[in-house]
Amino acid sequence: MADMTTQHTSQHFFSSLETTPDGLSQGEAEARLLIHGLNQLEIKKKEPLWIKFFRQFTDLMVLVLIGAALVAIAVALIEDQTEKLVDAYIILGVVFLNALIGFIQEFKAEKALEALKNLIAPKARVIREGAETLVEAKNLAPGDLLILSEGDKIGADALLFEANELKVEESALTGESVPSLKTVLMADTPPFPQKAEHTVYQGTSVVSGSGKAIVFATGKKTEFNKIAHMTVSTTKDKSPLQKELFNIGLFVGKVTLLISLSLFFIGVIFQGYSIIEALLFSVAVAVAAVPEGLPATITIALALGVQRLARKNAIVKQLSSVETLGSTTVICSDKTGTLTKNEMTVTEILLGASHAIRVEGIGYAPEGKMIFPETYHQGDFRKLISVAAVCNEASLVQNQGSWRILGDPTEGALLVMAKKGGFDLEKKLLNATRVFPFDSERKRMSVVAQNEIWVKGAPDSILELSTRIQSEGHVIPLTPSIKNEIASACQQMGHRALRVLAVAYREKLPEPLTNALEAERELIFLGLIGMIDPPRPEVGPAVQLCHKAGIRTIIITGDFGATAKAIAQKIHLADTNTPVITGEALNRTDKNELQRILQENQSLIFARVAPEHKKRIVDALKELGEIVAVTGDGVNDAPALKRADIGIAMGITGTDVSKEVANMILTDDSFATIVMAVEEGRHIYQNLRKFVWYIFSTNIGELTTIFLAIFLGLLSPLTAVLILIINLGTDVLPALALGVDSQEKETMNEPPRDPEARIMSRRFVAHFVILGIIMGAMVVGIYILDLMVQGWRWGEAIFPSDPRYRHASTMAFVTLV
Ligand code: ATP
Repeated sequence: MADMTTQHTSQHFFSSLETTPDGLSQGEAEARLLIHGLNQLEIKKKEPLWIKFFRQFTDLMVLVLIGAALVAIAVALIEDQTEKLVDAYIILGVVFLNALIGFIQEFKAEKALEALKNLIAPKARVIREGAETLVEAKNLAPGDLLILSEGDKIGADALLFEANELKVEESALTGESVPSLKTVLMADTPPFPQKAEHTVYQGTSVVSGSGKAIVFATGKKTEFNKIAHMTVSTTKDKSPLQKELFNIGLFVGKVTLLISLSLFFIGVIFQGYSIIEALLFSVAVAVAAVPEGLPATITIALALGVQRLARKNAIVKQLSSVETLGSTTVICSDKTGTLTKNEMTVTEILLGASHAIRVEGIGYAPEGKMIFPETYHQGDFRKLISVAAVCNEASLVQNQGSWRILGDPTEGALLVMAKKGGFDLEKKLLNATRVFPFDSERKRMSVVAQNEIWVKGAPDSILELSTRIQSEGHVIPLTPSIKNEIASACQQMGHRALRVLAVAYREKLPEPLTNALEAERELIFLGLIGMIDPPRPEVGPAVQLCHKAGIRTIIITGDFGATAKAIAQKIHLADTNTPVITGEALNRTDKNELQRILQENQSLIFARVAPEHKKRIVDALKELGEIVAVTGDGVNDAPALKRADIGIAMGITGTDVSKEVANMILTDDSFATIVMAVEEGRHIYQNLRKFVWYIFSTNIGELTTIFLAIFLGLLSPLTAVLILIINLGTDVLPALALGVDSQEKETMNEPPRDPEARIMSRRFVAHFVILGIIMGAMVVGIYILDLMVQGWRWGEAIFPSDPRYRHASTMAFVTLV
């Protein structure tokens, strides 16, 4: 079988692909971008602004209104009745203003969403001028050296020159969902034409392993672009609220049509209006009564909410998620990086089974003493730190005086420890000849170094595979009693909130060495390494807020139970009674039992779980009717993220694959940001509810005014112009206010709203109908009163030109406003 780690180093290979082992220079990359164009799909031509503006007028009722106004103007001009022109001009003016405001808002909403798209633009890791940098995928040029690791979305077509157990999922391209293993073309022949097994393609993603590849096709020339012209994300799906209101809008529209028709005939037959006047009036009523601005207003409110969330580190990819967020009942969170800072510092080492070493210093600066026990074996210690440093893919760099980690912070902490212990990190790279990368299923990683296998990983997974232990320079059998001693030391470290890793090695390489599972056997145990990862300071208050808001919090972590619980206690997410359920226990639990556990506990910790457990937990919660928000960062988290109501990916540590399937991305990875987003979601929903209430109650108020007056045999106090002006004030402008309405204090004091409950509940509707009727009755009352004060008597006919009517109508208008 082929060797799974392959590497191509021939200069000829690089130059035939017009690049170098150091990659392109920045200038060269820019020059190539000019020649080959940006690495992106052909962008659709944008709709010109004037078309967008005129689309505001496409509503049928608005067109009829404009038509009627124009006819009115023509008639007035022909009959030379200039006083009638004023009304028609005002109507046109109001319609225009309405459209203008609608246009500006739509424009704002669109800009907000566009800005978001830029935030989630895919990135790629490349080597340029010999150094690793992160560039936007659209800036990839032929000749760029791509660095690929687990969970990366591949940005361009590229030929591999290094592959470590690299498996790529290519279903986007081939429809084949079983990942294919990729290797490097080793023969020193020209690299064209490329074979699929040596090539990675744009649009596919790395499932496991790592590798490096030379880009040879970008933009329109990639295979992906040849077969498909897909657009990236759909941000405009309708939320449940939008759908509900759309249906209500349709219903109201039909009712209004009937009302308008009857108003038209009443106006012509009973009230002596001319046909044009009656038409203007009835259409104005129709325009006012149909809340045609409602869907747009909701979109705008959601879009503004999305923009606000983005400013606070939560990028929501679909508008509808904002609404779902507000009804979240359970948050399932990772531990490392989400609840904690993901800034690891090794503080303790257990050498063999009994020699404890204390490590001083904090952060990534390799400064700090090691405090050794009176007796310990130097050789054992050196072996332990060598394994920790060489079985490691991170690097420690000094930048303007401060030390930084490139790569996984857990591994970075080990490098710092090794350097404090006197290991020369310069040598590190020369040592490992082959890598079996870490994955959260195995929970360990190993390398081939000095003709041995060097392993590090979760202590339980390493102890299980160890048969011997190195002690005082000798290798002795790992008896059950020593194993217990180590396990209990590990437990103790966990109670002190330490994240614990074990290191081990295997003297002889198996023949042939095909995969990680074969390599990582019959290990010789070296020791434990404990590191602190302090909780984020903002998480404690966020957890408390969740509890106040009736939102349950569950930790689902790959880490050790004792560590997870100690951290959970520090942030008041758990107390001593909070159950910790391990992945192993979960395997023995059936669905009903799991649901019982989930129902009975306000807080819960699932520890040492694999990603597929996460999906099971989400499934169980959803079946219980919960609205679940779940965090995830790896490729294997994708199914759980998809299944959740709100899948949340980590912006900093998350893989491209997880970001792609998530509904929301946290740019700061923090749990507190999730809680903030839920709060914002509730706030937006509250505002929308207020707005719906407002729109419908005022519309009913207007209709009641008109109909009650007509029913009493009077002229409608509201003319077409007045109705349209009120409409301008009620339908359109409040949307602007909505966006900035401050939050009610008790937003997070109440339990989550019932996700099944429709906004138009019977009580809600009854409430605004009654309010509308009272409003209308009061207006008509004032109207009649004012007429009477002016000497009008019941039964006396009244005409639009009567100054008493004008006065009373103005009073009615002012009252309604
Ligand atoms: P969370 O799921 O909350 O993010 P986690 O980071 O501990 O927690 P995983 O990344 O699945 O979850 O890691 C599981 C375990 O694997 C860790 O507890 C640790 O013991 C071990 N581990 C983590 N990173 C590495 C690594 N780079 N090499 C070897 N072992 C590792």
